[in-house]
Amino acid sequence: MSEQNVHNVIIIGSGPAGLTAALYTARANLKPIVFEGMQPGGQLTITTEVENYPGFEHGIMGPELMDVMRKQAQRFGADCRFKFIDKVDFSSRPFKLFSEDQEHLAKAVIIATGASAKLLGLPSEAEYMGFGVSACATCDGFFFKNQRIIVIGGGDTAMEEANYLTKFGKEVMIVHRRDEFRASKIMLERAQKNPKIKLLTDTVLEEVVGVNEDGKKRVTHAKLKNLKSGKVYDQEVEGIFLGIGHKPNTDIFKGQIDLEDNGYIKTSKINTKTNIEGVFACGDAQDHVYRQAVTAAGSGCMAAIDVERYLEEHHG
Ligand code: NDP
Repeated sequence: MSEQNVHNVIIIGSGPAGLTAALYTARANLKPIVFEGMQPGGQLTITTEVENYPGFEHGIMGPELMDVMRKQAQRFGADCRFKFIDKVDFSSRPFKLFSEDQEHLAKAVIIATGASAKLLGLPSEAEYMGFGVSACATCDGFFFKNQRIIVIGGGDTAMEEANYLTKFGKEVMIVHRRDEFRASKIMLERAQKNPKIKLLTDTVLEEVVGVNEDGKKRVTHAKLKNLKSGKVYDQEVEGIFLGIGHKPNTDIFKGQIDLEDNGYIKTSKINTKTNIEGVFACGDAQDHVYRQAVTAAGSGCMAAIDVERYLEEHHG
């Protein structure tokens, strides 16, 4: 099924990048369509307090920030749809985008599909995902009241998740593969000062161990390996959270636009153009360096201005 209408611009994704692009293109009277995707509002909807988004002296909850951003874009006419794009065809114009079986046409496209939490890839991790293993503390922390929790990773995500999880768990152990942390000083110090948090370095998770009682799976142990001594041992634990970074959500663009080896979208160094004229990319889907809500929003604004200029030049 195809929509007859050729839209000026379709925005794929609804994190800070997508919704800022929506706000700017809506104010430019381009009547943008936003396909919000699998996680409307993006990654900030699964964080707690955002302390580093300018304009909020006392911080703001991630889901609230995204709600406000959406409403602000809608106020100027952005058409936000709770659907996801599962296929694109940029080989001819207008560009074709597919949401399930429905085809949508656009003169210009802004890709703002963001990134998702990385997993270790262990079969046991997959087996217990949702049954003691999680990649989202704010979604699942509540289920681990007074229990023992491990957080894997040594960056800001791991520190933030660990701090948050101390609200629920009786003890939280951060397990990191090196003895130096990638986390910012302030986040690391906060974790170090938290009496419920213990930091374990030079250690990796080898396997998730659990039981299946009457069809109910639960985690009982983490098989940990100390990389310095080579010792492998079982650590009793009920919850294991992954905080090891993110991967860009760009699978549907493979073969359609140029991607870096690590999957991030290649854009010009000075603007948001991809190698296909009329297709622009912003936010975490093309930025593996800064990856902040505010930089994503900034690049969403850039993409909107790039689209406006492109449409003026090519479509009058
Ligand atoms: P990072 O890439 O910064 O850190 C990932 C961590 O996970 C690293 O310590 C890494 O180890 C470890 N890791 C990666 N892969 C594996 C693996 N296979 N096995 C074991 N450990 C692994 O990602 P983050 O998500 O933490 O942060 C990304 C960006 O987002 C940063 O710029 C950060 O500042 C920002 N951020 C900011 C927050 C805030 O300000 N509130 C909150 C969360 C993130 P190694 O160090 O050895 O590579």
